[in-house]
Amino acid sequence: MWRCEKCGREFERESQDHYCEALVPQTIDEYLALQDESLRPLLEEVRAAIRAAAPEASEKISWRMPTFWQQENLIHFAAFKKHIGLYPGDKAVKAFAARLDEEGFAHSKGTVQLPYTKPLPLKLVSDITAYRVKAVCDKRTRP
Ligand SMILES: [Zn+2]
Repeated sequence: MWRCEKCGREFERESQDHYCEALVPQTIDEYLALQDESLRPLLEEVRAAIRAAAPEASEKISWRMPTFWQQENLIHFAAFKKHIGLYPGDKAVKAFAARLDEEGFAHSKGTVQLPYTKPLPLKLVSDITAYRVKAVCDKRTRP
């Protein structure tokens, strides 16, 4: 009998390949803990920028990505090999397209790429998040 130290399941074979539930993060903290150590501070900065712009939002994992939720998913972010992906939705990306081009950030339908080779545009992250918060609030107050 072999017991996986991560998830606690037991298997016949030593180091049995399995879908290890311990590796599926349930919170943003767990997600960050699974990322490369060198990326964690950057991801924390993005998280803090979003948090500051959306103080009433709650954190969760959605689509396997760190997510800020306020009546709906406001914005997701995720770590990739060469960039951090931001997912504020199609409308937000369209609204910021000119500024993204001007500041040199690749974007496509609903997503923005923040490459590790550039300083993190925290003001931009914050402004995009604020846009999403406003969009959600406007929706709520519309008759
Ligand atoms: Zn396991």
